[in-house]
Amino acid sequence: MRGALALSLTDLIVPPRCWGCGAVGAEDGLFCEGCAGKVRMLRGADCLRCGRFLGEHRRPRPCGDCRRGRPYRRAVAWAVYEGPVREALHALKFQEVEGLARLIADRLLERVRAEPFAARLDAVTTVPQTLGRLLKPVHPAVWIGRRIAAGLGRPWRPGLLRRIRGGPPQRDLGNVERRKNVTGAFEGTAAAAGLRVLLVDDVMTTGATAEACAAALREAGARGVWIAAAGRS
Ligand SMILES: [Zn+2]
Ligand SMILES: [Zn+2]
Repeated sequence: MRGALALSLTDLIVPPRCWGCGAVGAEDGLFCEGCAGKVRMLRGADCLRCGRFLGEHRRPRPCGDCRRGRPYRRAVAWAVYEGPVREALHALKFQEVEGLARLIADRLLERVRAEPFAARLDAVTTVPQTLGRLLKPVHPAVWIGRRIAAGLGRPWRPGLLRRIRGGPPQRDLGNVERRKNVTGAFEGTAAAAGLRVLLVDDVMTTGATAEACAAALREAGARGVWIAAAGRS
């Protein structure tokens, strides 16, 4: 509450700064005109299954890796994780500004709402944090997830997944280590049984974490898992 109030008071005094480049004058509160023009939205340029960016002018199709099958039905994202989007998501992770989480969540919400699966979801959840991060009061993915749940009118259920093994942060590891680090790190709880679940995260890069979470939910009996991430590479 205090964070939200502080943000609105600041807004009255100085025009909001761009979260991409720091310039004063972000019209929509998120990016300046220049940065907004650099955002590559993912709808139509992503793998039909895992949401990976396939490059401009590519026709929507599943990527090679997706032909091997995945534990989730579909992953969607707002924008390519680069440039101003990367800056804003970094700011979100390390400065933890709730107002910024709202701005980003609303853009992701727009993408999710446009997908046919949005109408069929039973619950919204997120990736359980490591013990070290649990000591922090709130997390970006939690803010985004809660707002998406509210926007979709679906219950926010962070308790559907549990972390059963710790490990270093994914960003410190290479691709192969990332997969090893999260395999078997999560467990779905009994509450997940029979549900169609949307798993929300702030960033999805290799997809190893999202996949491990989806597999855990499916093992716990979830009927289906979909994934929504703000930034995707
Ligand atoms: Zn800018
Ligand atoms: Zn794919």
